[in-house]
Amino acid sequence: MSSTTSITIVPPGGVVGILGGGQLGRMLALSAARLGLDVHVFAPEADCPASRVSAKCWTAPYDDEVALLEFANSCDVITFEFENIPAKSLEAIADAGKQVFPRPSALAVSQDRLIEKQFLQSINVPPVSFEAIDDASQIAKALDRLGGKGILKLRREGYDGKGQARIETGCDADAVFAQLGGRECLLEAFIAFDKEISVLVARGQDGATAIYEPPCNDHGGGILRQSTVPSGMSSAILAKAEQLGLKLAQALDYVGILALELFVMPDGTLYANEFAPRVHNSGHWTDDACYVSQFEQHIRAVCGWPLGPTMRHSDVVMDNLLGDRDIASWNQRAAAGEAVRIYAKRGGGEGRKLGHANRMSPKG
Ligand code: AMP
Repeated sequence: MSSTTSITIVPPGGVVGILGGGQLGRMLALSAARLGLDVHVFAPEADCPASRVSAKCWTAPYDDEVALLEFANSCDVITFEFENIPAKSLEAIADAGKQVFPRPSALAVSQDRLIEKQFLQSINVPPVSFEAIDDASQIAKALDRLGGKGILKLRREGYDGKGQARIETGCDADAVFAQLGGRECLLEAFIAFDKEISVLVARGQDGATAIYEPPCNDHGGGILRQSTVPSGMSSAILAKAEQLGLKLAQALDYVGILALELFVMPDGTLYANEFAPRVHNSGHWTDDACYVSQFEQHIRAVCGWPLGPTMRHSDVVMDNLLGDRDIASWNQRAAAGEAVRIYAKRGGGEGRKLGHANRMSPKG
């Protein structure tokens, strides 16, 4: 991908535009405020978590170009916190002469699992073996080639384990394909990984990079439950993971925080699962355990500021607070000295990400 050399510096007093109004936008806005920057939010939902900590909010669909451009013209730089924003909307803003970071091209790669895996393969950041599936009749042969067990994933718009199904040789391919909406999919080999880790890389407009120590991530039902740092991985595995993250950031000519999710096999081999062109749930611990959090780092990068130190001053376990039952523990957690972060979403809901808590201890 091509590189742009000119740097757009947004000094204190400037305005950062964020597309998307969820918890990531909220935490980005809070960090921006500490740097003396205002945030304008654009989101389809009124009264979203980010809107309540931002100077201004536009409520309109992502494809409302008139509203988008009005929003963009009120900002000095635009970023996003949600990867299903149509890449076209970002391109329209960029075409109108506004800087958008991360670049729309990086978002476009991440929005289609097939393009994403092909890109990862092309830069030697190896993904799990995969095959494109355009209709149910291709599933049986692809499953054979991938070892008989796989995960069928929608190419577009799946997240947190949604839009995917585990399948095996002999399954009812027509039924599984129909259950995923009969849309284009990717079949991935099912792998018996040992652990899941993620690498968070910050890259500035000038190409400078900074990297956070990779956490170990535990999932349940496809949703992140807990991130732990230190991860317990060997220094060789961590170094290899960091190298893969840096390679990806470089190849995308990336600006901002980039998260690369990796599977660690029992023999230490790493496979890329997917990347997110935004701040990431597995980086929420950085808010309380690092000198500069992923949120501030992202704002610094997109605003052309120098990146900050990524060092960790504490060991930390981050628990996601999912649904009404988890969030009800805020009081006990706060009493136990945890850093409780609540997203102030209107309404609860089973499994919904409503907050997280960071449990720190002295660095071991
Ligand atoms: P994803 O939405 O692709 O990140 O998948 C959600 C979760 O499903 C991952 O964090 C893993 O725990 C699991 N998973 C995804 N792909 C695979 C795979 N190819 N083999 C085994 N487990 C997987």
